Amino acid sequence: MELLALNAFSDNYIWLMHNGQDALVVDPGQAQPVQTALQTLGLALRAIVVTHHHADHTGGVPTLQQATGASVYCPHFTTPLDCPYQSVADGMVLELLGYQWQVLGVPGHTASHVAYYSTQALPEGVLFCGDALFSAGCGRVFDGTIAQLQQSLERLAALPAATRVYPAHEYTLSNLRFAQAVEPGNPDIMAHQQDCQTLRALEKPTLPTSIAQEKRINPFLRWQQPHIVQALRQYDADYVTQHGAFATLRHWKNQFQ
Ligand SMILES: [Zn+2]
Repeated sequence: MELLALNAFSDNYIWLMHNGQDALVVDPGQAQPVQTALQTLGLALRAIVVTHHHADHTGGVPTLQQATGASVYCPHFTTPLDCPYQSVADGMVLELLGYQWQVLGVPGHTASHVAYYSTQALPEGVLFCGDALFSAGCGRVFDGTIAQLQQSLERLAALPAATRVYPAHEYTLSNLRFAQAVEPGNPDIMAHQQDCQTLRALEKPTLPTSIAQEKRINPFLRWQQPHIVQALRQYDADYVTQHGAFATLRHWKNQFQ
């Protein structure tokens, strides 16, 4: 299987997976980048999978569905998509491009966010996680809760270390600046920052990442470490006492410039 990052808006990626004939896309906020890629590569779009309801992940879905007849899968939305679709939820198994995909409920960023995980489509395992997990960060809480976000990230962290992780945004460098503020002495963060600066200078994605990599650099998967809890107390001891360490980390990131 081939995987391509299609640029959308200023910092979204629409992931396109294909076998040379059939394709699936993840979170097409815009139709045009997908239509161009399908045409250039001579691919038939079979499936559109959506992780959550935000417009920068769904805006292109009706146009693509109508143009290609692709099956659309998405979690429960308060405002339904303007095209035929199948609702998915945690625990469901889908067959896409001939491989099995598990639907993982990962709420927090939004109340009904899902991720799509397959151990068949790539030998290492592949995870499309939308805005639940970013490289070196995670999505902020909109209509989910901080407790849901904490639990969802714990769930993703428990996937096999080699799993290839495909988030929906190029936020890595700004996330790494925050990670460095939280953990100034972490050599993996510094090394990764240099690698990512090189990639971005060449206009290449810093993604995919892996679960193993995120466990080395992502404060949202590392916050239980004593030196990070210490840094969180230094940032705002009262907030830690009232809301806990994880919520303090998210609060700090929201304020971070
Ligand atoms: Zn979002």
